[in-house]
Amino acid sequence: MTKRIVLRFPSQIVDKPLLYHLVKDFGLMVNVLKANVNPRKEGFMVMELSGETSSYDQGIDFLKKQGVTVEKLAEDIVRDVDRCTHCGHCTSLCPVGALYIIRPSMEVAFDEEKCIVCGLCLKACPVKAIELNFNGR
Ligand code: SF4
Ligand code: SF4
Repeated sequence: MTKRIVLRFPSQIVDKPLLYHLVKDFGLMVNVLKANVNPRKEGFMVMELSGETSSYDQGIDFLKKQGVTVEKLAEDIVRDVDRCTHCGHCTSLCPVGALYIIRPSMEVAFDEEKCIVCGLCLKACPVKAIELNFNGR
């Protein structure tokens, strides 16, 4: 099986060789699609994880026991530009700068290519202008 997942690492464990263990101990194939790891902050990683179903499940259990939050990757993020008030809250939370302020107009723009679909901006938006789009995945 192959699944696309989002991992969130607390700052205390970002330097642990977790991917090494997924490969060596569980025989999984890891394909990192996007990553943003800062030693003093929470880390994010989007990856494709492949292997036998039982190995996959064991690998995910291992990650969770280490304190990693594992979530299914959403298809993409959709922003309703008509609803957006350009308040800028989401831009301060986005770990990869996919939501950013254009100066001098101060409008908020969204760069889909940079987005790692971590979902943080959903919680930040006071008018619910951002949604996850799973497209049945
Ligand atoms: S989901 Fe939102 S916060 Fe996360 S990377 Fe994409 S735009 Fe940024
Ligand atoms: S938090 Fe919501 S309303 Fe504010 S700029 Fe971001 S998308 Fe727009």
